[in-house]
Amino acid sequence: MARKRKPRHITRSLRVRLMVSYALFFAILLIGTAAVFRARLSTVLTNQAQDILEQEWAALKGGYVRIGFYGNKPPELSWYYDQEDLDERFIVERLRRALLLTDASGTNELFISTTYENMARETPAQIQQRVRMMLASPGKFFLDTRYADGEPYLVRAGVIFDELHKAPFYAAIGTPLTNSLKVLRAYTLFFLGFIPAALILGSWLGWYMSGRALTPVLAVAQAAQRISGSNLSLRIPSREANDELDYLILTFNRMIDRLEASFQQMRQFSTDVSHELRTPITAIRGQLEVALFTAKTTEQYHDAIVNALQDIDRLSQMVRALLLLSQAESGQLVLQKTEVDLAAVVRDFVEQFQIPAESAGVRLVAQTPSRCPVMADRVQIERMITNLLSNAVKFTPEKGEVRLQLRKDEDSVELVVADTGRGIPSQYLPHIFDRFYRVPGTGTAPGPDQGLGLGLSFVSWIVKAHDGVIDVESTPGQGTRFEIKLPVGDLAAAPIESAVQPIVSE
Ligand code: ADP
Repeated sequence: MARKRKPRHITRSLRVRLMVSYALFFAILLIGTAAVFRARLSTVLTNQAQDILEQEWAALKGGYVRIGFYGNKPPELSWYYDQEDLDERFIVERLRRALLLTDASGTNELFISTTYENMARETPAQIQQRVRMMLASPGKFFLDTRYADGEPYLVRAGVIFDELHKAPFYAAIGTPLTNSLKVLRAYTLFFLGFIPAALILGSWLGWYMSGRALTPVLAVAQAAQRISGSNLSLRIPSREANDELDYLILTFNRMIDRLEASFQQMRQFSTDVSHELRTPITAIRGQLEVALFTAKTTEQYHDAIVNALQDIDRLSQMVRALLLLSQAESGQLVLQKTEVDLAAVVRDFVEQFQIPAESAGVRLVAQTPSRCPVMADRVQIERMITNLLSNAVKFTPEKGEVRLQLRKDEDSVELVVADTGRGIPSQYLPHIFDRFYRVPGTGTAPGPDQGLGLGLSFVSWIVKAHDGVIDVESTPGQGTRFEIKLPVGDLAAAPIESAVQPIVSE
């Protein structure tokens, strides 16, 4: 099976870094543990040697050695033990191994073993000083490590007394540390060999584990690379492991969903715009061609130019509306919120629309409370009401009725624009807020008399920008009802309105 080459450079440094971290962690852990254990072992071994020395010291003082000191003769040492008793012989052998016994001046040696002679010895002056110190504080003794023929010994020095005069004598016994050192050396050697091996193993483990952890990341990266502007329907398959990486994949896929939706919207928008622009342009071209090739009289020229101008008007109206809408949707149109009395605005508009409504034979009524202040952008709110009202009047036949109702709650207001017009079939309802959407089949196809299909897009944006909601209900043949709910907002924070702004409509 042919395998695709992985883009290794992406993860190489990450993998190396993970491996180095693993190895470093292992090294610190191993060296630290080994050092702590070695220190502990060394303490235990020293304690053991001290225990042995204490036992030997107790045996020395306990009567195996006696000092005969009779004033006129120099002191003498004699050993008291049962030659036949193996245990006692062994103890005495051990005592004699490294032993020094002198009088308190340090000059008269009662006993010195060869091993002791080979050690770095204390001078008579040192012995005298030590004896003085030990006599001053009973129980005190000296402990040090010395070497004889390259072998280490732990030496314990203290005072013992002769039986008759209780005169102090200086005694020092040594016990070899060779075995303890051997154990310590073996331990150190073991770790010196073990640590590099464990480090190599740890690094390999780190390399392997980070490789395993990063493989799915590479797979995700590869899948992500395949997704492009023209290929936005691709998604990264979930690993069904329900882990952090799956969460990343989910988030990424959702992002692609959103991108695809806005790409689609953009594509649709440019298709719609070019389509919508083509109609008036073709019409203008037609009018001008008529004028150029077939018009004979001034009247015919005049008509053709008037028609062309009408189409140009429509064209510029559309361009202006599109510009505004794109500004609104890209967030460039910032709301200028002030305190607006919605009741007064609704009453104003009903008054303005009376004449066109009457000429269409439509009754226009409004029910509003006396005042209904909300925090809103006056220009946009007026644009919203104009669009809804002009649609209602436009799509309601003679003898019909258009009714505006305004209700206010504690923190929201509700505006209803209801008509008894031709209604909208339910299958078209979800699309009426889309740009350029006109309900098909009822003579609303693009043409000079038709709307741009942009009015409700604006209404929807304005409601959303005011944190409100819009709802529509419609029954074909009976009428349509738009219901808008807007929050009242923080009226206390309202800036004072400087002047009443002009009403702008599409
Ligand atoms: P237009 O500028 O074409 O009116 P709108 O975006 O305002 O565009 O409306 C979109 C479509 O929704 C209209 O073409 C019309 O078919 C339908 N519509 C809007 N309001 C009403 C209404 N009150 N009664 C019936 N149909 C309506």
